Amino acid sequence: MSQRLGVIDRYREWLPVTERTPPVSLLEGSTPLLPSRTIGAALGLRRLYFKYEGLNPTGSFKDRGMVVAVAKAMEEGARVLVCASTGNTSASAAAYAASQRLRAIVVVPAGEIAMNKLSQALMYGAKVVALRGNFDGALAVVRELAATYPVALVNSVNPHRLEGQKTAAFEIVDALGDAPDYLVLPVGNAGNITAYWRGFKEYHAAGRCRVLPRMVGAQAEGAAPIVKGRVFKRPRTVASAIRIGNPASWEGATLARDESGGLIDAVTDTEILQAQIWLAASEGLFAEPASCAPLALLARLAREGRVEKDSTSVVVLTGSGLKDPDAALNNVEPPIELDGDARALAKVLKL
Ligand SMILES: *Cc1c(COP(=O)(O)O)cnc(C)c1O
Repeated sequence: MSQRLGVIDRYREWLPVTERTPPVSLLEGSTPLLPSRTIGAALGLRRLYFKYEGLNPTGSFKDRGMVVAVAKAMEEGARVLVCASTGNTSASAAAYAASQRLRAIVVVPAGEIAMNKLSQALMYGAKVVALRGNFDGALAVVRELAATYPVALVNSVNPHRLEGQKTAAFEIVDALGDAPDYLVLPVGNAGNITAYWRGFKEYHAAGRCRVLPRMVGAQAEGAAPIVKGRVFKRPRTVASAIRIGNPASWEGATLARDESGGLIDAVTDTEILQAQIWLAASEGLFAEPASCAPLALLARLAREGRVEKDSTSVVVLTGSGLKDPDAALNNVEPPIELDGDARALAKVLKL
């Protein structure tokens, strides 16, 4: 039986780790790359895959970068981690801190994060501070805190995060035997699109893939700073993981877009929620709203004939649908309440 490895062990030679880096792992990464059974055909795309990052230990891709950031912070002697978060970063930081007996302090925008993400951070034992204002304000505060006090900042402005996150690109190439033609993912703080592009370029330079994908990023219409070329002071969208008005890796995202010949465009909340139901009900994949923005964008591009039928596309499902069920439940029929026997049940079900 082959042993499952975490990100650091699986891709050690591609990461900034040394023999002094502690062996941190929750067996993150190695997530499934699932071929589409329904949606690809409906969109006329022959090869569509979903990279299901919701199966990471804390339910999002954040674990890939967090494991490297935490290992490096420990190597440098840190005992306290701090981050600002729309939710998933805090869950991940808190979990790795717990596993290594470090303290985690997470600063979240008050009232803006999904309950299940908050519950994760609290259960893993982090100190959670709900700061009034939005994510961008919270990030500014923790950056200043880390500049002044002995705490390690583990937001994606921490370069080790992006190093860990690029391993998702490696996994896709290792699974397909080459890079896809299109890599489609949500863009919030823009660290992930930056990291994927770096991963593909490194593998390409080393001869591991012949193709370099076009990077296609999806923002939400109410939080589309990169699409519109301006900061959004009050970002608004149902997709809380990409509710960001001033992305820290703005330049990395535009570089990935332009170097790859890709694009970054915005989708509406309605398109996001429709894509979420479509994905869950037709593929059996429940992803959180932010993760469904790229599917909504790909669907639009395919319908407009802007994606070649023969091409290979990978949509990155960045986080599990269980992270934020409230957003989804408004859009499905509630359960049928019934007081009766099998016949009554059969009647309601029109069997
Ligand atoms: C963090 C996150 C994003 C956004 O990623 P960035 O690197 O900030 O662009 C998208 N989806 C989910 C589920 C996330 O947790």
